[in-house]
Amino acid sequence: MIIEFENGRQSTVDQIRDLAARFGLTLEITQRAGVYSTIHVIGDTREFATREGYLRDLPGVRATWRVTSDFKNIARFVTGADGGKAPRRPRRVVEVPGLDGKPRRFGAGQHIFIVGPDSPQTLEQTLAIAHAAREIGERFGVTDRMMLRGGAFKPRTRPTDWRGLGMKGIAMLDRAREETGLPYVTEVMDLNLVPEIGEHADMLQIGTRNAQNFDLLEAVGRFGKPVILKRGFGNEVNEWFHAAEYIANQGDLDIVLCERGVKTLFTKGGYCRNQPDLNAITYARSQTILPVIFDPSHVTGDHRLVPENVMAACAHLVDGTITESLHDEAFRKEQLCDAGQALLMDHYASVVEAVLAFEAHVAPRLLAMQEAFEQR
Ligand code: PEP
Ligand code: MN
Repeated sequence: MIIEFENGRQSTVDQIRDLAARFGLTLEITQRAGVYSTIHVIGDTREFATREGYLRDLPGVRATWRVTSDFKNIARFVTGADGGKAPRRPRRVVEVPGLDGKPRRFGAGQHIFIVGPDSPQTLEQTLAIAHAAREIGERFGVTDRMMLRGGAFKPRTRPTDWRGLGMKGIAMLDRAREETGLPYVTEVMDLNLVPEIGEHADMLQIGTRNAQNFDLLEAVGRFGKPVILKRGFGNEVNEWFHAAEYIANQGDLDIVLCERGVKTLFTKGGYCRNQPDLNAITYARSQTILPVIFDPSHVTGDHRLVPENVMAACAHLVDGTITESLHDEAFRKEQLCDAGQALLMDHYASVVEAVLAFEAHVAPRLLAMQEAFEQR
């Protein structure tokens, strides 16, 4: 539900907040210049909406809308039940705090660089990548935009394949964060492990195979930490958005969508692992308030194709990328999962440089055009 109210009516806002809290709901307030601002009530608002008459009578309330849009929590454009149009909501900035005191801000107009091994396999390799990431961050002045990745719990196609080090892998990521100050994201597959993993990780990842595991989505939403939601490899964009709604419905709006490619007839040709759906980035940015990132590694399955895929996603004004990496080539043979797609950190440095050049010279022009299109 959306409530439009006169600026300066603090006691009305407090009353709405109290009522919302009774139904386990939270408020997102969009302060606007001028006379009116808007409150978006986050969560399952069916019971709350029965109090619409009371809300409308509160001093300073100008209008209320029951959101008929399919995506009640994450929609950027919403239409009320009476057909009235609510103002466009601003896109959301999702913050991940860093040990170094600097939050990584997804959706704030600057590319967030997430890099790390597919999976922490040895402490030595994990730390080497983390230190290289920190060094690249310092070299280009973007440490506050760098994050680490690594899946300690691995979903694998074959049950006999290596499945990750579990909590031992999490301990390696903890150590990498301690030594470098960089926060990390890691995948969670089992809803019962959300609290245990979530207590360590700075951000949780829902992988493509679990993108519609609704109980897991809700458990992560209840836990409340920032989350990367990968698109299911066979999901239409609307299914992806609804999956995000499962998290948001629990009151957690700190969701970052991640396009990582879908399976198509053409992915069988062997030239890429998944088909990147780059227009989905633009679409998700226009239809939802959530930041959107891109995974060039699982799209390509080949480290030699990663740089151009990162740049292609930049052209779609992506809010960041999550890239699998390797510190030294000698380790590739030892790597037990996704060896071929891991980009060497030296090459990653060049990718960061290219993204920053794009951001400085090209992105502002594209953004201006996109905004002009949105006004129509
Ligand atoms: C991963 O990030 O290592 C991973 C398994 O990704 P996805 O779920 O997109 O395949
Ligand atoms: Mn992987």
